[in-house]
Amino acid sequence: MADILIKDGYIITMDPQRRVFERGSVEIEGDKITAVGKDIEGRADTVIDARGKVVLPGLVNAHTHLSMTLLRGVADDMPLMEWLETKIWPIEKNLTSRDCYLGALLGCLEMIKSGTTCFADLYFFMEDVARAVEEAGLRAMLSYGIIELGDPKRRESELRAGEKLVKTCQGAAGGRIQTMFGPHAAYTCSPECLMQVKELAKKYKVRIHTHISETQDEVDKIVKKYGKRPVEHLDSIGFLGPEVLAAHCVWLTEREIAIIRKQGVKPVHNPVSNMKTASGVAPVPEMLAAGIPVALGTDGAASNNALDMFNEMKFAALLNKVGKLDPTAMPAKSVLEMATINGAIALGLEDRIGSLEVGKKADIVLADLKKPHLAPLHNVMSHLVYSAVGSDVDTTIVDGRILMRNRRVLGIDEDEVLKQVQATSDDLLDRWRAEK
Ligand SMILES: [Zn+2]
Repeated sequence: MADILIKDGYIITMDPQRRVFERGSVEIEGDKITAVGKDIEGRADTVIDARGKVVLPGLVNAHTHLSMTLLRGVADDMPLMEWLETKIWPIEKNLTSRDCYLGALLGCLEMIKSGTTCFADLYFFMEDVARAVEEAGLRAMLSYGIIELGDPKRRESELRAGEKLVKTCQGAAGGRIQTMFGPHAAYTCSPECLMQVKELAKKYKVRIHTHISETQDEVDKIVKKYGKRPVEHLDSIGFLGPEVLAAHCVWLTEREIAIIRKQGVKPVHNPVSNMKTASGVAPVPEMLAAGIPVALGTDGAASNNALDMFNEMKFAALLNKVGKLDPTAMPAKSVLEMATINGAIALGLEDRIGSLEVGKKADIVLADLKKPHLAPLHNVMSHLVYSAVGSDVDTTIVDGRILMRNRRVLGIDEDEVLKQVQATSDDLLDRWRAEK
């Protein structure tokens, strides 16, 4: 007998044929999907009636800084460098391990409640983030954010911190947690640092998470310092490769897109953050046309200011349409691919997640379609990208475990987390103000 049977829902598989079943079921045994399709009968310990609901692969948020939920709404409407230098970085200096744990737990809650089942994170106190992920039940790829600014002493301690996370957390939480190395960017990490990261990633067989070409200002800095644009610079030192997850990739020339494709780099599009910081419009349609599996991410909650991937899908479609002055750019299906299977590919997890297929992990979300803003029903994929919001998700399953059912998150005291987060965030800002 199966453990869970999701019955009679509108199933969007995102499998290689992109099959859709208007009335289908998904069967789960242990942590895996054991059947998907029409006419699945059989019994299960838990039967979820999915009539009037869409069943889809859990969304993959391929770039975030989870604990930054603590800084949500603290600093808005500023240029990126000023925002970082006068607000974010000085406040972050005061972060403690408890702050990051609570910020991460809040982020996990928000993701569970908006249909994200896996995310890639780059930040500090990552062992504490891992603890939050383990408790919340999500799947994650965690990396310690390495910033060394060309200082050899700092490089050494930062690399050791990155290595420590890999050693302690790789494969944690029954394999739900994996690790990466997280050099922040080419303008905060020297070539020596980046190449040592590359070697360490090879040694530990893990991937690399970084930011590339977010703003024009960044491009100017790198050109001034190294005489090359960011992607060309990173290519020339031998840093790029299929294991590199690159957030943003906004300012790219045709030549740089060709390098990304050739090296198998995995770009992550962050439309809301790019719009909010007025960084620019990434050439996503061009990258997709070149066969690059661009993923989707929210970036941190301080520059978004939410972790809602449904929101992000809509903005991904709209930003790229207006960027091209072409309404045919980025159709709903491409956007949904970015948020599911492309996210899985970008994290190297495509054999495990990103689609509803037999043998894959049971990372599944159900969204309720019986809502005024989702009626009438003609094209479910269109609804998911253009009309749905994260709070339409009513059930979230990760690794075959139900994390939320009928909007109730199991195993986390939501009110208590909200209360503690407010106090912790207040305290963090007080420490920063006292220091000024
Ligand atoms: Zn970022």
